[in-house]
Amino acid sequence: QAKKAGRNTLRFFDPQMQETVIARALLERELSKALENDQFQLYYQIQMTDLNEPFGAEALIRWIHPERGLIPPNHFIPLAEEVGLILPIGLWVLDTACNQIKIWEKNASTRELVLAVNVSARSFFQDDFVTQIQTVLQRHAINPKRLKLEITESMMLNSIEQTIEKMNALKKLGVQFAMDDFGTGYSSLQYLKRLPLDQLKIDQSFVRDIATDSSDKAIVTTIVAMAHSLNLDVIAEGVETEQQRQLLIESGCSQYQGYLFGKPAPIRQFEESLKPGLRQANVTYDI
Ligand code: C2E
Ligand code: MG
Ligand code: MG
Ligand code: MG
Repeated sequence: QAKKAGRNTLRFFDPQMQETVIARALLERELSKALENDQFQLYYQIQMTDLNEPFGAEALIRWIHPERGLIPPNHFIPLAEEVGLILPIGLWVLDTACNQIKIWEKNASTRELVLAVNVSARSFFQDDFVTQIQTVLQRHAINPKRLKLEITESMMLNSIEQTIEKMNALKKLGVQFAMDDFGTGYSSLQYLKRLPLDQLKIDQSFVRDIATDSSDKAIVTTIVAMAHSLNLDVIAEGVETEQQRQLLIESGCSQYQGYLFGKPAPIRQFEESLKPGLRQANVTYDI
């Protein structure tokens, strides 16, 4: 009885909810210290052509927490976006990525790699985002076309005109653009053709069941054809099996990213996996 009444009257002090609030506050406090404590790391995931040539990589952030261990981005990026910490974190990602590009530029075997970086809407729509990109490119003195900015369709919800204008300004600096998670948002073909994009990334949800779901296969084939007619590269995300790769080839898709080729890995392991003999070895790391 008491328990039942208690449950009702204590509705606003639901212990579980309180726990969540406290956990969140703690996470936020720790997150705000993570940069100065040097707890972030970039992992790198290889991108391959149909000829099994690596042509690029995507930088994916990890939070290496002293007690909790590796925290994946889905567990802290949304919070970072909400509280604004994504702005300094995003700058750290860009700086670290450009530093890596500079190192790759010095070596014949890595010179041509393009490094893709995920950009949050909140960063993108900062007034000085173009200047920030310009500054980081200059700081590391890299070829701008080695840096690819990944944006998402959801960004467009803000203001299409503002997005296009900003992308054009960034394009003048020489960077590349990819549309991440393509097919999950509300892209209208009307503005897709107006965006200065270089690449579409087919969302992994279409790749996952491509072998068993004929509509996924049809969707992928259509996206690839459309991308090519717009003169865009198109890469499939989340490629895990040889069968998926075969079906993607049939669909006309000639760029792939996924566990089949390599999981995201710290820089040392990533560079190790670039060595031709090891390329198909499928070494695994904690992700
Ligand atoms: P995303 O940009 O779409 O990145 C692809 C995600 O798919 C990565 O998850 C990657 O590890 C995972 N993945 C790659 N290949 C496979 C595969 O074959 N199978 C499966 N099941 N998954 C695969 P991750 O690293 O956990 O990142 C999740 C999301 O977090 C990213 O999605 C991106 O939206 C965001 N994110 C990651 N790093 C950053 C960053 O530096 N800044 C910002 N703003 N967001 C980031
Ligand atoms: Mg991405
Ligand atoms: Mg994606
Ligand atoms: Mg995503």
